[in-house]
Amino acid sequence: MAVGTLSYPQVLCYHRIGGPLELGVTRVGRSVFARQMTALARAGWRTVTLDEFAAATPHAARRTFLLSFDDGYAHLAEHAYPVLADLGFTATTFLVTDYVGKTNTWDVRYTWNRLRHLGWTTIEQWRARGFDFASHGATHRRLTWVDDGAVASELTRSRELLTARLGPDAGRAVAYPFGAVDERVARAASAAGYELGFGGVKGNQTALQLSRVPVYFWDLGDVPFGLRDDALGGLGRIVANMANRCAVGTSILQELGLGTRDSEATTLGPNPEPRGPKQRTAPLPESAADA
Ligand SMILES: [Zn+2]
Repeated sequence: MAVGTLSYPQVLCYHRIGGPLELGVTRVGRSVFARQMTALARAGWRTVTLDEFAAATPHAARRTFLLSFDDGYAHLAEHAYPVLADLGFTATTFLVTDYVGKTNTWDVRYTWNRLRHLGWTTIEQWRARGFDFASHGATHRRLTWVDDGAVASELTRSRELLTARLGPDAGRAVAYPFGAVDERVARAASAAGYELGFGGVKGNQTALQLSRVPVYFWDLGDVPFGLRDDALGGLGRIVANMANRCAVGTSILQELGLGTRDSEATTLGPNPEPRGPKQRTAPLPESAADA
C-alpha cells in the first residue's frame, strides 16, 4: 500500500474448524488449522487484536494479521481457540447474535448435524483471555438485499445485545453476512455505531468496507493464500472471491424463506437466552461459500 495511506493489517477469515464433515467448503480440519497457525507463528507472523487493528498506522507492521472467525460455532472453543492460545495468538469472532448459546437447524442441509453456537459463558471466558467478539448481524441476512429498516434492525439489535452483554468494545465491529456490503449498508453500519465493517475479498479499505480473505478447505498450504504475496496467493484470492460470490444462492433461499425449516433454535448451554419474538425467517444455511 502506498506510503501516506492508512494500511490495515491483512485479515484472514475462517468459519468452521473441525467438527463434523459437511458438504460445503467452509470447514477447515483441526489439524490443517493447527499446522497453518504453527507455521505462521514460526515464520514470525503475529495476530493483532481489534484494538491494534483499528489503530492502523501509515506503515502497518509486517507480518501481522487479524485472524477472524464468522458465525461463532461452538467448535471454535474446542478446536481453534486452544491452539491459538498455545501460540500466543488471538482472534476476533463475529457472532450471529440471535443464535448465541443455541443450536439451530440451518446447517443441516450441509452437515447433517445440528451445530451448536458458542454460549455467553464460553464467550466471556475467552474474552477474559484477550479474544475479541463482534457482530455478524442478528440473524445472518444478506444486508444488501433488504430494506433500510431491516438493515438497521439487524445491525442495531445485534450491537445492542453485544454491548449489553460484553461492554462497549464489543460494539466496534461488524462482519457483514456473506461479505455483502455497499455504500448504503456501510452508512447504516456507521449510523448504528460501528467503527469497522468487514466485507468480502474486494473491499475499498475504508473503515466500514474492509476486505478479508476467506480460508476454504482447499487452502491446505502452511501459509493461507490471503497472507501470500506471490502468484499462488493472488490466484488463491481470486478463487476465494469467486467462491464468496457463489454464496448468492443461499441468500435467495433465505429471503424467500426457503431452504430452512422454521427457526426452532434449541436453547442449550448453561446460560440460556430467552427467545425473542419468533423470526419469520431463520438464519441461512451458511452456504457452500459464505464469507
Ligand atoms: Zn457467516
